[in-house]
Amino acid sequence: DPEMKDFVPLYASFESFYTRNIYNRIQDIFNRPICSVPGATINIVERKFSHSGWTSKYTGKTLKNVVNLGSYNYLGFAENEGTCSEAAIESAKKYGVGVCSSRQEMGNLDIHTKLEQTMADYLGVEACITFGMGYATNSTNIPCLVNKGCLILSDGLNHASLVLGCRLSRATIRVFKHNDMEDLERKLSDGVVYGQPRTQRPWKKILIIVEGVYSMEGSIVNLPGVLALKKKYKAYLYLDEAHSIGALGDHGRGVTEYFGIHASEVDIMMGTFTKSFGAAGGYIAGNRALVEHLRAHSHSACYATSMSPPVCQQILTSLSIISGTEEGRNRIKQLAKSCKIFRQGLKKLGFIVYGNDDSPVVPVLFYSPCKLGAFSREMLKRGFAVVGVGFPATPIVESRVRFCMSAALTDKQIQDALSACSDLSSLLNLNYSKAK
Ligand code: PMP
Repeated sequence: DPEMKDFVPLYASFESFYTRNIYNRIQDIFNRPICSVPGATINIVERKFSHSGWTSKYTGKTLKNVVNLGSYNYLGFAENEGTCSEAAIESAKKYGVGVCSSRQEMGNLDIHTKLEQTMADYLGVEACITFGMGYATNSTNIPCLVNKGCLILSDGLNHASLVLGCRLSRATIRVFKHNDMEDLERKLSDGVVYGQPRTQRPWKKILIIVEGVYSMEGSIVNLPGVLALKKKYKAYLYLDEAHSIGALGDHGRGVTEYFGIHASEVDIMMGTFTKSFGAAGGYIAGNRALVEHLRAHSHSACYATSMSPPVCQQILTSLSIISGTEEGRNRIKQLAKSCKIFRQGLKKLGFIVYGNDDSPVVPVLFYSPCKLGAFSREMLKRGFAVVGVGFPATPIVESRVRFCMSAALTDKQIQDALSACSDLSSLLNLNYSKAK
């Protein structure tokens, strides 16, 4: 079709020439095929960039047992050995892999309801509903909670799935500076008189949306500050715990436990099962009325196929380990220890590390995407796989490597990773703090 030849170039022209050229030259650091579980070590197929023709090619060479510093395998449940995977295999035998229907129709399994009750009990709230995809949990449920005539206050660094959910809702969106309580209050108080009853305000509802741990920044939300403002201005709070559930708090209950706050203080507790549980999908927990409203109206509950049984079983097994066993506590402790050691080690080497010491996300600023490419290739040569992030996930000048810590990594692997980073710091001139 002659019309189609313009389709991709027209889309691509949204990006600048500069950005496209840079990303073409480092395309080999992305989309490397992995041919193993995303555990502490992975097998990865090498991709090499060829300057002639500006393309990258798979060399066909599989690099074995590369230390994985990039997957969100926070508590080590992605591994395929032991109780978790055996239970998942059994559930595939019993229920199959695909549910072939939505929850409302033929896709409501007994293990779905069991998972929802277990998750609600774990968090200490009345009820919970689960969905097949974390991204869709945000993007399809926010429009179920607010609409035209409502006000959303959204943190400037909120994840793309939250941003999409806000836009689809047709509510008025105000973005406040990341974790900045003064800016949040300024934007909250605009048009709202403190102490005024909800019914007399210009907004039907006011919803504040924040994350527990920010996925690109490694920062932890100022939850006590947000809660105080939510109460003062009679707003509702939506908290995305994708990176904090399982990873923060002595029992892994997330950012509420971390701050010693009861989960019921937060109106809408959202999270994903893709990180600490080594699985897939998302949930929303809170009071019964909220959960029943979503069960009846959420597009993800009504029109999408429900969670795959082995995935559901994987979450149930990992959750039982996290919430009720010594092993679970040890994994949480090991993760916390690794986060501190790795972060402090990088800082000592002169790297600029963003975020909170307790965060499992460890972003290191590189500024230049070219250095990102060089670092990723050199780390791979030394046996470590890392993730580079830049435009459009971050501004291009704030390109960074985002390390993710895991309880599955041994102390030796972490020390070896620090030694490799130290070598590369001099090779690639990455000691920015010295440069200052
Ligand atoms: N929320 C946040 C904060 C995320 O970082 C992500 C993805 N990493 C999601 C939601 C989407 O979740 P999933 O990958 O499970 O679809």
